[in-house]
Amino acid sequence: MLIEENKPLAPFTTFGIGGPARWFVEAASEEEIAEAAAWAGERGVALFVLGGGSNLLVSDAGFDGLVLHVGLRGITTTDAADHPGQRIYQAAAGEDWDHCVEQTVNDSCAGIECLAGIPGTVGGTPVQNVGAYGQEVASAIERVRTFDLEQHAFVEFAAAECGFAYRRSRLNSADRGRYVVTRVDYRLTPGGAPTVRYAELQRALVESQKEGREASLAEVAALVRRVRQSKGMLIVEGDPDCRSAGSFFKNPVVSEEQVREIAALGDKAPPRFPAGAGAESQGRVKIPAAWLIEQAGFAKGYTLGAASISSRHTLALVNLGGASAAEVLALAGEITAAVEERFEIRLEMEPVLVGF
Ligand SMILES: Cc1cc2nc3c(=O)[nH]c(=O)nc-3n(C[C@H](O)[C@H](O)[C@H](O)COP(=O)(O)OP(=O)(O)OC[C@H]3O[C@@H](n4cnc5c(N)ncnc54)[C@H](O)[C@@H]3O)c2cc1C
Repeated sequence: MLIEENKPLAPFTTFGIGGPARWFVEAASEEEIAEAAAWAGERGVALFVLGGGSNLLVSDAGFDGLVLHVGLRGITTTDAADHPGQRIYQAAAGEDWDHCVEQTVNDSCAGIECLAGIPGTVGGTPVQNVGAYGQEVASAIERVRTFDLEQHAFVEFAAAECGFAYRRSRLNSADRGRYVVTRVDYRLTPGGAPTVRYAELQRALVESQKEGREASLAEVAALVRRVRQSKGMLIVEGDPDCRSAGSFFKNPVVSEEQVREIAALGDKAPPRFPAGAGAESQGRVKIPAAWLIEQAGFAKGYTLGAASISSRHTLALVNLGGASAAEVLALAGEITAAVEERFEIRLEMEPVLVGF
């Protein structure tokens, strides 16, 4: 196990922002994860688990502890023992998520096709229950294998024990920072139909419907990637709009009463979507943070120093080149204050802050 010192973290993040890690280790096996955890524990050093760095804002001072970069690789598949028509994909936490989606789509297995093009690792997906275009990963997750940093033991959670809700799980709430995900099992359906729940996908797929055939998983995944790219939400080399952490704010989950209050404040009602998994979402709806931000007076491309709102998506803050974490937070603060003043809704940040 090689422990490096003062390792710059910016290159490990999609934002391209942040100072160094005091110590840094790459773990390629479960044994190395246990070893790194013991190393940090013996020295009383804080430990941060790094995946693909696509949902992080690292402070300009960096992280004064050990950054554990999860590098476990491998995907295996088996038929589900309890359900012959389903397949279990066991994916190591360090696998590239989009590569994992691509493999399942190539195998004609349905369940995660709308999550194509989301950057980051397999291990990152249960943390905030990634979701997009009408799917959440919670609906496909069967089991999550972890290393418990408190008990120094491997523990597995069935999906029902993960506390999944919109952009939430036990891993980013009650047990934040306690577990290192080493493997995620997904239950998928061979030959299953793609999920075409999202209006934007439905509109784009009218042609295949006119031809009287259902769109294939591959067509849906390719369409999702195209739509993502048009919004700067796909990592494409050289595209300045994807130097971001994706959506910077979560879409607020509100009651019908709040929707009416918001509508009464302006001249139109906000768009609304189902609130997703989780008991606390029952009877509530999700409204787009991007809509609130625009109604509060911000347009795409609004800039503060070297940080700006993406020119293609109001929900993403981007690093125009050389932005500091402080600049990004100042811009986020300006937006949050304006939305709160207009709608009395406090936007929640989606990316994880590291070293603040
Ligand atoms: C262009 C762009 C588009 C995006 N689009 C979407 C989207 O549509 N939907 C969506 O939900 N998200 C989206 N995101 C956010 C991000 O891609 C996801 O949250 C992703 O799952 C983060 O995974 P990661 O491996 O990069 O995690 P990191 O950014 O490295 O870490 C994020 C958090 O997860 C923890 N973590 C990571 N790996 C592990 C592990 N193995 N064990 C324990 N904890 C771990 C970290 O400690 C940290 O708290 C987007 C980001 C970008 C840049």
